Amino acid sequence: MNSTASLLDSMVGVGDMVLLDPLSEDSMIKNLKTRFNEDEIYTYIGNVVISINPYKPLPIYSPEKVKEYKNCNFYELKPHIYAIADEAYQSLRDRDRDQCILITGESGAGKTEASKLVMSYVAAVCGKGEEVNKVKEQLLQSNPVLEAFGNAKTIRNDNSSRFGKYMDIEFDFKGEPMGGVISNYLLEKSRVVKHVKGERNFHIFYQLLAGGSTELLKSLKLVQDCSKYDYLNKDPRSLEGMEDADKFQTVKNAMEIIGFSEAEVTSVLQIVAVVLKLGNIQLNNQFQANGTDSCYVTETKVLQEICQLISLDADVLENAFCSRTLEAKKEKVVTGLNVSQGYYARDALAKNIYDRLFNWLIARINESIRVTTILQKKVMGVLDIYGFEIFENNSFEQFVINYCNEKLQQVFIEMTLKEEQEEYVREGIKWTPVTYFNNATICNLIEDSRQGILSVLDDECLRPGQVSDATFLDKLNLAFADHKHYEKHINQTNIKQKAIPNLSQCFSIQHYAGQVTYNTTGFVDKNNDLLFRDLSQAMWKAKHKMMSSLFPEGDPQKVSLKRPPTAGSQFKASISTLMKNLYAKNPSYIRCLKPNNSKTPSLFEDFLVQTQVLYLGLLENVRVRRAGYAYRQLYEPCLKRYKMLNKQTWPCWRGNAREGVEVLLSELNIPPEELAYGRSKIFIRSPRTLFQLEDRRRQ
Ligand code: ATP
Ligand code: MG
Repeated sequence: MNSTASLLDSMVGVGDMVLLDPLSEDSMIKNLKTRFNEDEIYTYIGNVVISINPYKPLPIYSPEKVKEYKNCNFYELKPHIYAIADEAYQSLRDRDRDQCILITGESGAGKTEASKLVMSYVAAVCGKGEEVNKVKEQLLQSNPVLEAFGNAKTIRNDNSSRFGKYMDIEFDFKGEPMGGVISNYLLEKSRVVKHVKGERNFHIFYQLLAGGSTELLKSLKLVQDCSKYDYLNKDPRSLEGMEDADKFQTVKNAMEIIGFSEAEVTSVLQIVAVVLKLGNIQLNNQFQANGTDSCYVTETKVLQEICQLISLDADVLENAFCSRTLEAKKEKVVTGLNVSQGYYARDALAKNIYDRLFNWLIARINESIRVTTILQKKVMGVLDIYGFEIFENNSFEQFVINYCNEKLQQVFIEMTLKEEQEEYVREGIKWTPVTYFNNATICNLIEDSRQGILSVLDDECLRPGQVSDATFLDKLNLAFADHKHYEKHINQTNIKQKAIPNLSQCFSIQHYAGQVTYNTTGFVDKNNDLLFRDLSQAMWKAKHKMMSSLFPEGDPQKVSLKRPPTAGSQFKASISTLMKNLYAKNPSYIRCLKPNNSKTPSLFEDFLVQTQVLYLGLLENVRVRRAGYAYRQLYEPCLKRYKMLNKQTWPCWRGNAREGVEVLLSELNIPPEELAYGRSKIFIRSPRTLFQLEDRRRQ
């Protein structure tokens, strides 16, 4: 499994960090930096590849490179993402092992680019023919569509994915692609109505305005000028360099290749227009006869245009913004909403429509790429999901994202150790258990179904009476007072955490990657994720088929008093399905690192990389990887490489390779505990021993 010749020969730094000696966080960072400065952006830890974003095009993804790595032996060439992709594909095709490729790292580290490189590599090396090519195209074209609707420009990344994505690519017994399935996780829907200065809303809005023809925009009742829309950024500089107009054509083209009908594309764009225009609805206060406040829509033109786009009676929509129907014991009570409640309802509707549209798109793409045959399938999964996040102010979103990362770390440790263990058993070598940090206790703290943070949150959300973020926090502080990984903050005297506005609203978790303080403000609301029924009923009434279908619960026939699952429990369920899926596969890991915060080519900031090395648990990675023996090699190549060190084996050894290696090593005064002879491989405990061999070889 570990390195052979080329990783040791004429390398910049060490190509596989399993061989770093001495091993420390510092030596890892130094090694990564040395390599990065020479444009070697990939480095292994065993079969994990670390990728550092170069922020500049490198000539290492050409068709010639693809050829070079096709069917290569993993360690014969320089570390490359293609080698990981090739290894996974070969193992899937020839050994029938389902694969998954897990890509993690913080925003801007290069996850999405990495996932596309993997997909395009696999597409380039697998199968030919018209049918197969069509499938490949459809799979690849899902990327521009999902990026248009699910990505946005942020401070960290001009093309930041605002959702998590897992894609299974399915192959037939010959290793030819047949189709796939995409799952998505937690779209950042709040961006639809609000984003910070310097960032943007989702790309599709700008793309549509910049690239839509005059007739199209007219039919959607839109104007080209972004500054006319409240939900879009008023900063014209945010449009620079984004090539929105061209991208719009790419997206339309991609939708066509995937198989969207013209009518479907039109419906999707109409819904995008509706969301955009909702932001321009203005409300004002009016006093009711009964002395309460209520609001009304001031500019009815926008309201009417929205309603024309989805064939809905304008009164229905206005009422949904301005009043709320409460049903109690079969009685309906209508109360007026004041202006701020009205805006809340408007924004909730815009976010919900967009989120549901995004889910619809995923479902529609899945319909096109779905494999219908019952032939036995082989599967390669590619996971492109948000990395660990620690911001100044961490909210519900960071909490679930970090929970997801705890789960992935658990998969990593369990699967790596399992694989090591299995190899030792296969090779007939005694396995000595390694001690490592098992983060199961943190996962339990969050997800335990009776007594985890998510279940406490759900209990609070479902409890009748006055529920607030504060009562939720009290419950947590009580329940986890003694938990090793939980910390409560009673007052604001913790000087270490100055950046947190009000520590008494916060709790902290000691994650495997470090301590994070979460502000509970908004937890209850975000977990509830409720949409006033008046809004869903209004949308259901639209004659616009797609819009109506996005709100099935608005059908009065289907009124159910059972509340939908909370955001937290939905996320937990989807992560649990994902984990099951991953556990059933053979994993490869791509750990992406960001070298600087300014998107600058060739700039490596030590401190920033050090933080990520810590978050990603890379030192732990290396430790787990070389638990027991750092290096292993099949007897044959080992003999070939070192036979010159011994007169008996040089120039050639006539017996079997294992005996040759035994003879060879026995004369080198290597302490016996450093070596173990397996059935097909020699195992060497520490990198130092290997380097001694290398030194002698060079003398
Ligand atoms: P997010 O979590 O925000 O979605 P990400 O990890 O998916 O971030 P990417 O969108 O893949 O980050 O990468 C950000 C940018 O960095 C890309 O748009 C591209 O400009 C550059 N980049 C990433 N990987 C490479 C690469 N291998 N070669 C050249 N440039 C790259
Ligand atoms: Mg991304």
